Parts: sequence; C-alpha cells; structure tokens
Amino acid sequence: MTLTRPFHQNPRAYLIAEEPDEPVLFLSPETLHATARDFVEGFPGLVTYAVKANPAEAVLGNLLAAGVTAFDVASPAEIALVRSLAPRAALHYNNPVRSRAEIEMAVNQGVVSYSVDDRGELLKLARAVPRGREVAVRFKLPIAGAAYDFGEKFGTSPKVAADLLAEVVRLGYRTALTFHPGTQCTDPQAWAAYIDRARDIAWAAGVTLERLNVGGGFPARRMRGEAPPVDAIFEAIARATREAFGAHPPELVCEPGRAMVAEAVSLALRIKAMKGQGQVYLNDGIYGALAEQPIMGMTDRLRVLSPDGTERRGAATPRLLWGPTCDSLDRIPGEVPLPADMVEGDYLLIDGMGAYSTATVTRFNGYGGLTLATVRDLAET
Ligand SMILES: *Cc1c(COP(=O)(O)O)cnc(C)c1O
Repeated sequence: MTLTRPFHQNPRAYLIAEEPDEPVLFLSPETLHATARDFVEGFPGLVTYAVKANPAEAVLGNLLAAGVTAFDVASPAEIALVRSLAPRAALHYNNPVRSRAEIEMAVNQGVVSYSVDDRGELLKLARAVPRGREVAVRFKLPIAGAAYDFGEKFGTSPKVAADLLAEVVRLGYRTALTFHPGTQCTDPQAWAAYIDRARDIAWAAGVTLERLNVGGGFPARRMRGEAPPVDAIFEAIARATREAFGAHPPELVCEPGRAMVAEAVSLALRIKAMKGQGQVYLNDGIYGALAEQPIMGMTDRLRVLSPDGTERRGAATPRLLWGPTCDSLDRIPGEVPLPADMVEGDYLLIDGMGAYSTATVTRFNGYGGLTLATVRDLAET
C-alpha cells in the first residue's frame, strides 16, 4: 500500500485528476481525528484501538496524533508495527492464544496487559510475564445483538472465569475481566449484561477488580440513514458500572476497531465491464476490500460517478456485482440497486469502508493492489 501525496480535496477531485484503474481507498485524517476525539472524550475510561481493524500506518499515525495512547494488538507483527510508530504506547495483547515465542517477544516489547481464557494459557503466561503486569480474564455470555458472535472462538464461562481470576491474583498479576460482545453490536444492553455479570464473577472469585475491559464491537454506520448508538452505549456502560460496582468501580477500558476507523475511509472501485442483464464487473471483490460484505450484508452507501466526476442519477436498477478474479464465488450476494445510466469506466464509491477492508485484502489472482490516498473531505464528492 502506498501513501499518495499531495492531498486531494475529496475523492471526486482525485478520480477526475488521476483516473485510476486500480481500487483506491480514500482516508480523511480529519474524520478519523474527529471519531477518535469522540471516543477519547466520550468513553468513561481508557480507549485502546484494535489494530486489526485497519493497521495502515497512516491510520495509526493519525490516531496517535488525535490522542490515542494505547493499542489492542493480537500478534508480534502488530506489536512491532505499533512500537515502530509509538515507542511508549501502552500495548494490550488480547489474543488469548499465544505461542511461547510470541509471549517472549511481547515481554521484550513491554506489553502491559494480556488476556486469557484458559488455565493452560495462563500458566504459559506465568512462566514469562513479570509479576505486576495485568492479566484480563475473558468470559462470554450467550448474548445476541452483534453482526456475528465472537464468543464462538474466545471467552470462557463465568464459572471458569472466576477460578482463573482467583489464580491471576495468586500469581501476582493485576486483575481485570474482559469480554467482546461481537462486532457491529447495536444493543447497549449487551454491554450492560456483561458488566453486571463481571461483578458476579469478581465476587465469586473474592477479588476487587482493578480494571474492566468492555471490548470492541461498537457499531459503525453501514446503511444510509442509520445513526449508530455509540453515545447510548457509552451511557449504558457508565450506568451499568455504577450500578454493579457502586463506590469502588474498576477502571474501564474499551478497544474499538470498526467504529474508530470505518467512517474515515471511502473506497472507489472501477466498473471494468457491463454484461447482459445487469452484470457488473468490478476491479475489486470479496478477496479484496469487499471481503466483509457477504458476511455483514452489502452496504447501501453507494454512489456511481463518471470519470468526469458527474454523479449518475438514473433509476435504481438491480445489478449483480462480480469481483475481478476468475473465481465464481467472487461476487456480492443478492442484487444491488445501482443507477440505470452507469457505464463501463465509471467509478463505484462506497462510504464507511475503513474497517476490515485493507486489513484482509489478499493478492488472489494478482488482484488486491490498493492505493491509499489522503483527502480533506469525504462527505462532499
Ligand atoms: C477484533 C477485536 C476488537 C475490535 O472489534 P470491533 O468489532 O472492530 O470493534 C477488539 N478486541 C478484540 C479482543 C478483538 O479481537
């Protein structure tokens, strides 16, 4: 990925000037800065950024500039990446499964917090991690409200979590509990239910919890007209913590990925060909920046621009969208309404594409070469 300079005013200006044949991701540092400030000022605790959602250096650099000081990392490569940009940032290593070599690397890099959901993995940590660091026990509840469930892979039952928490104290680590309600979770009550149960777990373990990490999962705007209830979630978290823990609440931590970066990036794809009854061939697809669309449901935040920057406003017509590879799975499920007057060579602009887009791109069939361009403004194109 290359960082293109100089700044263009907006995606439209870039498309007119460059007429790119490859997919372009447009990053608005200003939008990213504003979202980061909303989290840092609105969340009642420490905000860490979940690097996996978008590890682009331009994203990390702008988050640092906006006052994000702590990062949720899941691998040695992510640890090294953040360290290279921010030698003093607080690193929270919240992938609960790690090899011994990975643990050693993390210790050498001064990671301050580790999550765990299994006794064997806790004992593995205890062989290498200095006492006085934080170990956060990850638990899960059968709670709906998210786009998909993270509890299938990680997190233990409240009962085992209480045993692990007691063991964390015995081993001499700082105590925390953590959970992840699932990504794109729109129900504030999901957090409240987890926080309530965290109190029970700490009580069962006989432990005064030092910190409570309420995970990521904050929703981004995926559909036009949607207003993700992030402020309502902050309020629900603050209220539930007060009600559960009273006068001695644990410090709160959150780790947004999606909601921090989604809005700051728009994606421009080119129409390579149009065939038959509404078949549209794009220069990127499910093996590239559209990887999440079949899982989450296709966003409707779409516009079609001609190469001279005119927005196509023809009647919405159902289209079948194919990606560029020769694999027949490489399509967007269902039909997507797009303007009747769109033609080969036009651009499809997709807003809200900052999370889980560049992060999961493959080079399958030689595609996936994305350019990253910085723009002042994404809204006005
Ligand atoms: C992926 C992940 C996140 C970020 O989740 P979002 O839904 O993108 O906010 C946070 N914490 C952990 C442990 C994760 O695995």
